[in-house]
Amino acid sequence: MKKCLNCKKEFKYTQVLRSVLPRFKWQLVSCNDCGKGHKITFSSRSVVSILITAFPILLVQYVFQEPSFFRDLLWFSAWVITILAISPYIIKYKE
Ligand SMILES: [Zn+2]
Repeated sequence: MKKCLNCKKEFKYTQVLRSVLPRFKWQLVSCNDCGKGHKITFSSRSVVSILITAFPILLVQYVFQEPSFFRDLLWFSAWVITILAISPYIIKYKE
């Protein structure tokens, strides 16, 4: 798990997840120990955004030959949840 850039204390998984979840506003992650705020780097945000948007488009276009709105929506929801769940491991911070 990612560590505080200031005091090296490890962030909690839920703490990082909470910074990603609120409608992708990419809030600062504040260290519980020293209170230092960490911004999520632009490249990390891009990777998560691209994963969330691009992959389902490819999936729908190339895997599902017959479009089905509810099935695709279900797949997309599952995909987004998966990406969000692993996002604390993907993202990087800067000061
Ligand atoms: Zn700290």
